[in-house]
Amino acid sequence: MTSILNADLHCHSVVSDGTLTPEALAERAASHGVELWALTDHDEIGGQARAAAAAKAVGMRYVTGVEISVTFLGKTVHIVGLGINTDNADLCEGLERTRGGRRLRAQDMADGLAKVGIKGAFEGALQYVSNPDLISRTHFARHLVETGVCRDTNEVFRKYLTEGKPGFVEHRWASLKDAVGWITGAGGMAVVAHPARYKFTPNEEYALFTEFKGHGGRGVEVVTGSHSAAEYVTYAATAQEFGLAASRGSDFHSPLESHTELGTLPYLPGGLTPVWELLAARIQ
Ligand code: AMP
Ligand code: MN
Ligand code: MN
Ligand code: MN
Repeated sequence: MTSILNADLHCHSVVSDGTLTPEALAERAASHGVELWALTDHDEIGGQARAAAAAKAVGMRYVTGVEISVTFLGKTVHIVGLGINTDNADLCEGLERTRGGRRLRAQDMADGLAKVGIKGAFEGALQYVSNPDLISRTHFARHLVETGVCRDTNEVFRKYLTEGKPGFVEHRWASLKDAVGWITGAGGMAVVAHPARYKFTPNEEYALFTEFKGHGGRGVEVVTGSHSAAEYVTYAATAQEFGLAASRGSDFHSPLESHTELGTLPYLPGGLTPVWELLAARIQ
């Protein structure tokens, strides 16, 4: 397989903070020409069996996926796991622990919002949650848009849900070592998600990739909905520098909110090893 493959290895369903079911996502991906697909819900693999079956039903190849929340140098970093065995006990237990603090965190977020006059945000966000274990900032954002506090979810994040803002709560997610360990222990490949989003200094970013490699991480997202064209070039160079395979994924969440449609990003640049070459044995 070459880099010229319409692979979309990053997106979210109602099992985390997306708005479509795994089945609707599979149909949408196929209708946009996706040839190899992975559903990568945040900290949760409850949608994997449905996604794999739905992919099969529409004639699309599938690889299992997850996106694990990690705390590294005080920031939240996302690590995608591809080709994981979803029955692996350590992985399942690790994900359960990672999800664990979300409800309390959400209550603290609502307390912060109440202090600036936005009441009832916890109950409001819950209206948008289909998996009670997975309350995310995205659900708060949808509630604040729906109630007219902000025009769109971007504005909610900018004004209320990011560091220093009233609804932001410091949270400790999994360690980088644990997340990479759970993924590799479950037979999968760990991939650094959307690295440009973290705004690390060059030294911090070097530390991220060095430690990630050291723990057994093997890939990096180069072409993602979170990167500009210039960032594709930057992270193609990072993949080469650190000997990492390259991944491609839209990070699609919702037809109304997502600016990147499933399966519509440019192909991976040439000269890289696509993650799907190394995942061949894990593709269904
Ligand atoms: P959480 O895991 O609860 O911290 O929520 C993180 C999720 O919020 C991400 O996966 C995105 O879906 C969403 N998100 C983060 N930043 C933004 C933003 N600026 N605009 C819209 N959605 C965002
Ligand atoms: Mn999300
Ligand atoms: Mn992410
Ligand atoms: Mn994502």
